[in-house]
Amino acid sequence: YRSKARGRGSYTLFTPDMVESHKRKLHLANGIEQGLLNDEFVVYYQVKVSNEGEVVGVEALIRWEHPEFGLVMPNEFIPIAEQGGKITAITRWIIKQVCIDMPDLKQWALTPFRASINLSGHDLRSNQLFDYIYNTFNLYDINPENVEFEVTESAYLENFALSNKFFRRISNMGCAIALDDFGTGYSSLSYLTQINIDTLKVDRQFVTELQTSERSRLVTGAIIDLAKRLSLSVCAEGIENHEQWDYLREHGCDNVQGFLFSKPIPLSALVRSPCRYDASAMA
Ligand code: C2E
Ligand code: MG
Ligand code: MG
Ligand code: MG
Repeated sequence: YRSKARGRGSYTLFTPDMVESHKRKLHLANGIEQGLLNDEFVVYYQVKVSNEGEVVGVEALIRWEHPEFGLVMPNEFIPIAEQGGKITAITRWIIKQVCIDMPDLKQWALTPFRASINLSGHDLRSNQLFDYIYNTFNLYDINPENVEFEVTESAYLENFALSNKFFRRISNMGCAIALDDFGTGYSSLSYLTQINIDTLKVDRQFVTELQTSERSRLVTGAIIDLAKRLSLSVCAEGIENHEQWDYLREHGCDNVQGFLFSKPIPLSALVRSPCRYDASAMA
């Protein structure tokens, strides 16, 4: 790209698209704190469904209703928040918001019920997050058994010792812990013998490939098998059709999550939606 503005013979490594996306990134990075103060962030909830079709929990998934850009998705702004040191503020905001929503969630849901919150690797490195969770649960009268924390295996392994310490305390308090996007990292499996988790979440990639790839079917079956042998529960994400659900159920997957049941939706819509799905009627 030849930049006219900078004079003849001057070249830059940036294309107009790159400049635009860099501007957007900066704009998002600089707007996080004010956005939190202005209530621009919202929690959407996506149901998790048991083999019997009962809603056993929801995953809290954050969105940003940006005044200029409209709805911005977490895959875009979470990495920006992590890079800019703003993720802790976002994590605290969503924990508090789930606490605020908990009475409505519990009233709507069947028991037992868990609301899941995603944590980023950066969260686990701060010593203060546990205290924040503990104090916020007290303040909002939250039973820790109604909460689960999800962390990706790569985030967990970024600092293994600190993660272990953090999640041991979380687990002792009564919260559940799920290893998110399992099978997509580059890690060896040996760490599984040393960590304290309750659930493996099979990544959407495997589910998506169930119908097209025999190998994905085999790997998915093996992941479920591995989890069972370790006495962990298994949740699969990204279920979009009945064939995928059938395969997963037949192979012992405990819970599923995906557009087949519901997309992530705001609390007001969630509490008007079913908390039980008829497995046979969905085909
Ligand atoms: P995740 O934790 O693996 O969440 C699952 C993602 O898969 C969600 O995307 C969800 O909307 C999407 N999904 C669920 N079922 C289906 C399906 O059937 N089909 C398709 N195509 N997609 C499905 P979302 O909400 O855009 O979130 C993306 C990622 O952003 C999350 O992946 C999580 O890693 C991160 N994230 C979301 N909220 C938070 C948060 O509050 N804190 C942190 N640290 N990360 C978050
Ligand atoms: Mg998750
Ligand atoms: Mg996931
Ligand atoms: Mg995922």
